[in-house]
Amino acid sequence: MISWKEIDTVLFDMDGTLLDLHFDSYFWKQLVPERYADKEGLSRATVWSIIGPKLEEVAGTLEWYCFDYWSKELGMNILGMKKDITHKIQFRPHAEQLLKHLHASDKKIILATNTNRDGLNLKMDFIPFAQYFDELYSSHDFGHPKEEQAFWQNLSQNLDFDPTRTLFIDDSLEVLRSARTYGIKHLLAISQPDMTLPKVETGEFQAIDNFCDLLPIE
Ligand SMILES: [Mg+2]
Repeated sequence: MISWKEIDTVLFDMDGTLLDLHFDSYFWKQLVPERYADKEGLSRATVWSIIGPKLEEVAGTLEWYCFDYWSKELGMNILGMKKDITHKIQFRPHAEQLLKHLHASDKKIILATNTNRDGLNLKMDFIPFAQYFDELYSSHDFGHPKEEQAFWQNLSQNLDFDPTRTLFIDDSLEVLRSARTYGIKHLLAISQPDMTLPKVETGEFQAIDNFCDLLPIE
């Protein structure tokens, strides 16, 4: 699937790639609507017609991923609510095993997430995966999400990497397309970002089903 001899940098997305997207799906599709409905005196049946368009309006922008934006927009403590459900944060199957093998190899291992620093720290406090990475980047540091070319241009100014010798793994097809436009040669999607839901279509991208399929690192 991957010829490791052709790769010297591996870029990982976090949510839905290394970590089970269920934490975030549960948070946005269940917990937030329930609490918002209770707070505003709305029925559970109508609350999504209020929240859904708010989410759609900023899809693919940095606001979509910003806790402060949603705390203001919804009048709720988003970070505090996430802290209430940290027990739901978990690796996708064999993700840690792959990270350990890569860490022991000569490859550079980089995290590139659209989650802001609060979200990144929340997850690293619960699962200490920073030890496996050479660098961790949040798109909020650059002011542009991975969907935009400006993210990749900023990343290249901070990180010495050759796009033609880089593997990027992400569960977002829009983000993968952005990385491809920038020139990243080796791209993999995720066939089951949320382990409680069925597998998803990954369009023109080859998808990884089990991270063990990428082993051994040679
Ligand atoms: Mg993701």
